[in-house]
Amino acid sequence: MEAQTCRGIAVTPGKANSARIQSVPVDELGAGELMLRVLEVGICGTDEEINEGLYGAPPTGMDYLVPGHESLTEVVGVGSGLTGWQPGDLAVPIVRRPCPENCAACARGRWDMCLTGDYRERGISGLQGMLRERMTDHADFVVRVPKTLRDCAVLVEPLSIVEKAIGETLRLQRRSPVPPRSALVTGAGPIGLLATLLLRSRGMEVHLLDRRPKESLKARIATAAGANYIDDSTTTLEDATKGLTFDLAIEASGYAPLLFRALGKLGRNAALVLTGVTAGHHSLSIDVDLMNQELVLENQLLVGSVNAARYHYTAAVADLSRWKKRFPGLLPQLITGRYPLERFTDALQKSPDGIKPVVEVSQA
Ligand SMILES: [Zn+2]
Ligand SMILES: [Zn+2]
Repeated sequence: MEAQTCRGIAVTPGKANSARIQSVPVDELGAGELMLRVLEVGICGTDEEINEGLYGAPPTGMDYLVPGHESLTEVVGVGSGLTGWQPGDLAVPIVRRPCPENCAACARGRWDMCLTGDYRERGISGLQGMLRERMTDHADFVVRVPKTLRDCAVLVEPLSIVEKAIGETLRLQRRSPVPPRSALVTGAGPIGLLATLLLRSRGMEVHLLDRRPKESLKARIATAAGANYIDDSTTTLEDATKGLTFDLAIEASGYAPLLFRALGKLGRNAALVLTGVTAGHHSLSIDVDLMNQELVLENQLLVGSVNAARYHYTAAVADLSRWKKRFPGLLPQLITGRYPLERFTDALQKSPDGIKPVVEVSQA
């Protein structure tokens, strides 16, 4: 039988601006696997870095990587031995896969806590990603999505990151007899906005900081979700929140110096969660004795969080369904650009008011 192929994006890791469209193989559907038609792929900073040649590794034995890790797909074929899946079902493949050593964390389904660091990630390292028309994947690594989420389920993957970061920190904060009530989110990109929606839906008071004007889309989404938006370019965080401290702070700006300002706004028993990998080598002079004192004397918690396990994806699906009712019309507004596959590199271009650009890989 002739091998199947489809159109996809390929990059040569380590080489800048190598993205091109080419024919890529479609694996045969194996037992326990799903054949997926890729509908949409969300683009983020990781894809930019991969196209700049700064990041990414192809699967063993291949000289190119298919990028794309935030996706929405449609089931078009169901492998033998699988029940419960049907053609037409919507599905989101999980990004990270267990390390070959199957370490104690990966063996428990917590590849997001992998102990060896040898995990593979679809579209990032060691596994082809979703910027191709068709792909197969094992059903164990595919999350089902209700059809009612067709217009926003491409946000499941970025939201899974937020579900983990906030869910686990709120669990850690149960050490305090008083539940957290107020939160500060720094950075109104997709992660910051999704964190804002999550915290608002949990009934918390949320202050979201960015450097865009109050009329900007980011500010309007935050305000519509009931958050207080602060434009750090016209007023400072410190002025806008004078007299206030926060029980929880989420750093999602990817600008490291901001984390110390967020730290300065933490109250007693509060936690600061870092979700962004920051670029560059900013240096800052800080009073580490004061920082130490505050962390100790105020029972403060500093948490780093990356990636997500399967249950964070299912939590993301459940929250998107709830938010459709809770925040009517808001979720699709986070998708600020739609590009066909051949315009993938246009989707990488940043604009100050852009939130989540999406590549429409194949039309439904
Ligand atoms: Zn991403
Ligand atoms: Zn592992």
